[in-house]
Amino acid sequence: MNVTELVVDLEALRANIATVQRAVAPAELMLVVKDDAYGHGLDRVIPTAHAAGVRWFGAFDARTGAAVREAVGTRARVFVWLAGNRDDVELALAEDLDVGVGDRDLLEDVAAIARLRRAVARVHLKIDSGLHRNGVRPEEWPAFVERAAELQTSGVVHVAGLWSHLAEASDEEDDHARAVFDRACSQAIEAGLSPEWRHLAASAASFARPGFRQDMVRVGAFCYGIRPAGGPDETALGLRPIGSLRTRVVSVSEHGVHLAVGALDGLPSALAGRFSVTTPAGQRVVRRIDADQTIVDPWPDSAPGQIVEVYGGPGGTTSTATDLAESIGTIGEEIAVRISPSVPRRYVGTLPV
Ligand SMILES: *Cc1c(COP(=O)(O)O)cnc(C)c1O
Repeated sequence: MNVTELVVDLEALRANIATVQRAVAPAELMLVVKDDAYGHGLDRVIPTAHAAGVRWFGAFDARTGAAVREAVGTRARVFVWLAGNRDDVELALAEDLDVGVGDRDLLEDVAAIARLRRAVARVHLKIDSGLHRNGVRPEEWPAFVERAAELQTSGVVHVAGLWSHLAEASDEEDDHARAVFDRACSQAIEAGLSPEWRHLAASAASFARPGFRQDMVRVGAFCYGIRPAGGPDETALGLRPIGSLRTRVVSVSEHGVHLAVGALDGLPSALAGRFSVTTPAGQRVVRRIDADQTIVDPWPDSAPGQIVEVYGGPGGTTSTATDLAESIGTIGEEIAVRISPSVPRRYVGTLPV
């Protein structure tokens, strides 16, 4: 093995996808693959997920969307939701992506570019249901969907979806967001639109709140086996972490046992003193995290070369990404996406060819 590596279990990914699909059926699963599939590696995650039956992928940007298109060809739908400028829109339409549109100017840009390309742009209109992270404000929504209906009639756009994003912080807020969303859907239909895909929920709400699943859910974290901070554990959810970070002992000193992983590999130095790694002798508390090494409590037969699990190891005896995250007040996704691209990914559980 490499000195430090992120081991990605593709069998666990397949199993998680099946669990999520069962939990949300008959709603469709859109697998969210932003940030290089939450740090696990787009190149391997996409084909595995596609083979497992995923037919929708979601990412922020058109460039990632184009990479997904490259990996699956025309056999899947790809949704991107942060087209920032005309180049992004050009690329999205060239790659036949579904584009999230949350403001009037972008809708006009998409329509203009589609007209030039003699294409029909598939768009998903976004209502701001309270998160204020872009999206059309409810008071501007009726005019927005009317304009979209005009553009659809003139043949340059097809409104394939309506969507919004939840805070997933409190049930009350989410209930309010859903009421705003439902009203926006009715108004879109009154304007003459008939979108096939309404989507609102991410991981947490897609499991916990059946009424939020609509036609499709956009799930990242749960497919990668990352549980919500402060929420039910992986076993209760029926999920397994797909990524585990392993390293090796490099030396032993009077300060403790030195491991070949550090802050530059993406391990937040704030974690020092807050969690334990799994060594051949069991759990040991992390004393210090420097740029290029981590020092942990010693054990009797410690020796260079021994393997240490930092997080997400097999069998549930090791801390998970979310355990680490909770100790510094963040979420498991952040631990996962911070792992440096320079840390090699090693894939296990691939299908025999
Ligand atoms: C990241 C993201 C998701 C997925 O969230 P998870 O909690 O990881 O499932 C869904 N929708 C949008 C818009 C996102 O940015």
